[in-house]
Amino acid sequence: MPTYTPPLRDMQFVLHELLDVPTELAAMPRHAELDADTINQVIEEGGKFTAGVIFPLNLPGDHEGCHYDAASRAVTAPQGFKEAYRQYVEAGWPSLSCDPAYGGQGLPMVLNNAFYEMLNSANQAWTMYPGLSHGAYECLHAHGTPEQRALYLPKLVSGEWTGTMCLTESHCGTDLGLLKTKAEPQGDGSFRLTGSKIFISAGEHDLAANIIHLVLARLPDAPPGTKGISLFVVPKFVPDANGNPGERNGISCGAIEHKMGIHGNATCQMNLDGASGWLIGEPNRGLNAMFVMMNAARLGVGMQSLGLTEVAYQNAVAYARERSQGRSLTGTKASDKPADPILVHPDVRRMLLTARAYAEGGRAFTSYVALMIDRELSHPDEAVRKAAGDEVALLTPIVKAFLTDNGWIATSEAMQVYGGHGYIAEWGMEQYVRDARINMIYEGTNTIQSLDLLGRKVLMDNGAKLRQFGEKVKAFVEAHGTDDKMAEFITPLADLGEKLTKLSMEIGMKAFMNRDEVGAAAVPYLRVAGHLVFAYFFARMARIALDKQGSGDDFYQAKLAVARFYFARLLPETATLIRQARAGSASLMQMDEALF
Ligand SMILES: Cc1cc2nc3c(=O)[nH]c(=O)nc-3n(C[C@H](O)[C@H](O)[C@H](O)COP(=O)(O)OP(=O)(O)OC[C@H]3O[C@@H](n4cnc5c(N)ncnc54)[C@H](O)[C@@H]3O)c2cc1C
Repeated sequence: MPTYTPPLRDMQFVLHELLDVPTELAAMPRHAELDADTINQVIEEGGKFTAGVIFPLNLPGDHEGCHYDAASRAVTAPQGFKEAYRQYVEAGWPSLSCDPAYGGQGLPMVLNNAFYEMLNSANQAWTMYPGLSHGAYECLHAHGTPEQRALYLPKLVSGEWTGTMCLTESHCGTDLGLLKTKAEPQGDGSFRLTGSKIFISAGEHDLAANIIHLVLARLPDAPPGTKGISLFVVPKFVPDANGNPGERNGISCGAIEHKMGIHGNATCQMNLDGASGWLIGEPNRGLNAMFVMMNAARLGVGMQSLGLTEVAYQNAVAYARERSQGRSLTGTKASDKPADPILVHPDVRRMLLTARAYAEGGRAFTSYVALMIDRELSHPDEAVRKAAGDEVALLTPIVKAFLTDNGWIATSEAMQVYGGHGYIAEWGMEQYVRDARINMIYEGTNTIQSLDLLGRKVLMDNGAKLRQFGEKVKAFVEAHGTDDKMAEFITPLADLGEKLTKLSMEIGMKAFMNRDEVGAAAVPYLRVAGHLVFAYFFARMARIALDKQGSGDDFYQAKLAVARFYFARLLPETATLIRQARAGSASLMQMDEALF
């Protein structure tokens, strides 16, 4: 059976020593009162809740899966999920970073982010029930009418109701311009929605009293393609005059999917049979409104993989300490035993350190992005808000794709540490691999994230957002470049920064002649960019660790060792990736379609 210990020490390191969150927040009137002790208390309590209440449901939830009753079209989540959700709501966790105007606690995103990592380590499938509610909350908060906000937000904030995002249809997932679900005006401000959505996470379940679906559909006179999509709020139960769940609406679950992982989360086919819906935002501008939810979900998916990376690492280390096989190549280490623990073998250490570096790098990176969101939302200076928003836009596809690719690698390496036992269900490691795989697919595949980064965020912007982030890297390089102790980190960081700039320009030039060059380069390009971001944060963390090495706290020794491993063993893959990104489209496109 796997175990989980919330990584509070590393979280505190990131929040206080790396990012100095309390000082950052002091500049934001909304959060100025939040001190380090309160931050620590919240994450400690979050750790207790996730490890004590949510984690024990992970393995049994995976084995049991969800249940669908065709007669009532009801979905029941695995045993214990509903009770855990009740405790989650009762403790006020859903409202952590929500607006106090709607009953939220108004805490910063950077805290919510830390809590969310722990939830995902504890149980990704369970976390997806409330996970999408936050995106629905953000979307309605940004684009809902005052009446919609008053009706739905307090219940989403309290967690009494959950939310979904209904985009995908059987014939379209990536290309939403093809979607067919129809919305006809009823003359009373409402619309009648007809169509069928597939793969809707938490589309139906027994955890909450109502489910608020945010549905993309087409108005009768809508232009074709993405410019003709509108967004609607479609509640499972239409709220009555008092705002309580009233009449059952015409949206229901036709089936649930049997799938590779996240068995505890219901992936639903949702049928809209003349369901009542209400427009969110402007007609035909639905994708624009939905992007608020999609961006939140993209960051959330990156956090799912960070959570899995951490928990898989923890268990693999425990196993590597216990399991004895063979002797160390440099001589016996455990002479009282017939064999040494596998932790003595260099390649077992490589696997463990890979997972650990991806966890620590991911934690530093996503905490930083969450803090940038706080700046974007709450800083009094408009120029600071704008700069933070640009950075979040640039970094969002990297969080989504780089962390989920890393999560797949890390969970697979952690499983490998167990040898054959990793492949056996009772150890729980194969579940982490299965659960991690979906994160590379949904919420825009990692290919689509790469195209978003290279095509929209870098090239269409003439590299402005990338330069803005590059300035931070440059400032750090200049500040520490003359310190010999930092050379092992600064030299490769500066080198990669220059190479990424050159690579961006080269692809940009090629793209003038042939747009396929962008598609051919995008995936390795995003991975290079991800490594630049990680190298920057590992160099910053190494700086702190070097300064505190003499403190006698082993934590800093370990931090330095992980940073050194990262630079020596993981960053060098950028050499291959850059060659791939420069290889051009010809080797992909020259073969005739008929020859495939
Ligand atoms: C378990 C699960 C949960 C999900 N939850 C939700 C949910 O809650 N709500 C929701 O709306 N959807 C959900 N989805 C759907 C998910 O977001 C889509 O499956 C995903 O976006 C990909 O769409 P698709 O499956 O139609 O693949 P397609 O769009 O058909 O793509 C097939 C392949 O072609 C590639 N491709 C497509 N277009 C391009 C392009 N222009 N350039 C390069 N490559 C391209 C893709 O990257 C992919 O590799 C879920 C899916 C699963 C499996």
